[in-house]
Amino acid sequence: KNNVLEVNDLHVSFKTYNGEVQAVRGVSFEVKKGETVAIVGESGCGKSVTSQSIMRLIPQPPGFFKKGKILFEEKDLTRLTENQMERIRGKDIAMIFQDPMTSLNPTMTVGRQIMEGLVKHQRLGKAEAKKRALDMLHLVGIPSPRSRINQYPHQFSGGMRQRAMIAIALACAPKLLIADEPTTALDVTIQAQILDLMNDLKEKLETSIILITHDLGVVAETADRVVVMYAGKVVETGTVEEIFNHPRHPYTWGLMGSMPRLDLSRDKDLAPILGTPPNLLSPPKGCPFAGRCKHAMKICKEEMPETTDASGSHQVACWLEHPMAPAVQAPYKLVG
Ligand code: SF4
Ligand code: MG
Repeated sequence: KNNVLEVNDLHVSFKTYNGEVQAVRGVSFEVKKGETVAIVGESGCGKSVTSQSIMRLIPQPPGFFKKGKILFEEKDLTRLTENQMERIRGKDIAMIFQDPMTSLNPTMTVGRQIMEGLVKHQRLGKAEAKKRALDMLHLVGIPSPRSRINQYPHQFSGGMRQRAMIAIALACAPKLLIADEPTTALDVTIQAQILDLMNDLKEKLETSIILITHDLGVVAETADRVVVMYAGKVVETGTVEEIFNHPRHPYTWGLMGSMPRLDLSRDKDLAPILGTPPNLLSPPKGCPFAGRCKHAMKICKEEMPETTDASGSHQVACWLEHPMAPAVQAPYKLVG
């Protein structure tokens, strides 16, 4: 099979004094070799918990894997020991974050931080690791790598820091890169450069990417497939073309409606969907979007909709897909 990663009916919860927060509730998707899969949704939808679960960065306790599997090369990551996970993290699966300062070490030169993984995971000698570090700095487009390699993160600009973080993440040529809001903190020009860089590296290194973002503009520019999450569940998944031009779930319609368009300022979140997501301490038994959905029917509040196929690559969890539901037109048509 061509899948690098398979997430299978994943349930992740957090124990709190108020009860169990069911942050991820039966999420399934796969990532193929060389593919970029974007996970989109509002904050609190479970997209970051999903990605942190793959990296095993969920603090346990209070977090715990309740059910399901995360299969990476036939290993279930939810069941590995911390030592086994250490060997995968940074080597086979790497992660970049919105704020490079949270993952860069301020007291270590950028060069040493790139070399660290190479020495640890690939057992390269110092000279060879340094050569590789220079190559990586060059590859991510940092000018004059020879002087930059000995500098500290604070000597880099925001965009250069982001590039340095990508260099560190990709130094060991991981099979999977998880990027959690990688460009959110950057201005539009630098953002475009970083996205180009990620696209470029994906092709050169054949890395698969999971991109976590709330920015649909970024999704359109980078992703092959999209997973739309809401209240800890996947509500729709499909190719970028399917999700942008033929979305079928009312929540996705709402997301698309709030997408910043080219003629409007990019960093404004427009027309947010009215209402709030359900409390995951006691999730509703029916469709989680029912409380905000214009098209909610009686059954929506009573029973969870099943996931149905709109095409081989397009899945939707909504009662409107059922033959007994009224026909509802998508509220807009994007011309692609
Ligand atoms: Fe709306 Fe019902 Fe579909 Fe949920 S299942 S999105 S409430 S129509
Ligand atoms: Mg987040």
